[in-house]
Amino acid sequence: MSTLLEVNGLQTYFDTIDGVLKAVDGVTFSLDRGATLGIVGESGSGKSVTALSIMRLIPMPPGRFAGGDIRYEDRSILEMSAAEVRSLRGNNIAMIFQDPMTSLNPVYRVGKQIGESLRLHKGMSRKSADVRAAELLDVVGIPNASQRAKDYPHQFSGGMRQRAMIAMAVACDPDILIADEPTTALDVTIQAQILDLMIELQQEKDTAIIMITHDLGIVADMVDNVMVMYAGRPVEEGTVDQVFYDPKHPYTWGLLDSLPRYDVDDKGRLIPIEGQPPSLIAVPSGCAFHPRCPYARDVCRAEEPKLSNLGDGHVAACHFAGSSGFVRGSTAGGAA
Ligand code: SF4
Repeated sequence: MSTLLEVNGLQTYFDTIDGVLKAVDGVTFSLDRGATLGIVGESGSGKSVTALSIMRLIPMPPGRFAGGDIRYEDRSILEMSAAEVRSLRGNNIAMIFQDPMTSLNPVYRVGKQIGESLRLHKGMSRKSADVRAAELLDVVGIPNASQRAKDYPHQFSGGMRQRAMIAMAVACDPDILIADEPTTALDVTIQAQILDLMIELQQEKDTAIIMITHDLGIVADMVDNVMVMYAGRPVEEGTVDQVFYDPKHPYTWGLLDSLPRYDVDDKGRLIPIEGQPPSLIAVPSGCAFHPRCPYARDVCRAEEPKLSNLGDGHVAACHFAGSSGFVRGSTAGGAA
């Protein structure tokens, strides 16, 4: 498989009156053609800012790229001109947002909006773009598509708007589709349909997908690799099997323990992660997770753990990951 996208040591910071907010602080991953990567973490973990950085949609100022690089087919996205970035967006890399109204303009008909992207990137005539837009709405499962293409976004249900946004995102056959919590606002049945639709389109076009979610359960069925983020940094990365069935980082254990469908404690209860994610302006010393980690010891407060290789590409940033006796559910050694 060929590598499409490489993110190396990305740092995306925001200058605020309270100080520098390090939203993304050292993210590295690569994405092959046709592969699916899940980026998982709570709100404020830096996953959405990672996506917006790839799309060069970070408002600057207050945002800035403080370090690292993002390369698409060996070209630095961070060094592209505004015109090159406009061409890249939609044409090569497209994004689906949680709220379809972020992408859909309420005052234009849905079909016109999809067609606009085809006219802009593919140079289609207005008539051909209208026909193709209706075809795309049909592909994503909008009934009576050529009629519904004439509707305004508010005439669509939530699920239909999400489908329309997917139609718009895939209109130009992008190599990479970034989906940021694409199904959070939808009920479970529609959620499953939307994810199935994305998988179908991916298989047809060999599109690479970055699926961003706070819910590990969503990515379990559809991704190849997972990156778990906390406080702007990756804390565990590996294949879906490694991260789901042999997780090594206490934060990943916490995410899995708080999943309704995955695990419960010995009394059959879900176990939420105690505490709140930290402020990204004042990230805790040492391991950023230490104030919430039931396994924390003195070294955790003093030294930042680096990502270490646990074998077969499975990495985790925890001083004790992979040590014998350091297993989920045990507080061996105790918190000091
Ligand atoms: Fe917990 Fe320490 Fe590991 Fe951080 S380094 S996850 S505080 S045990």
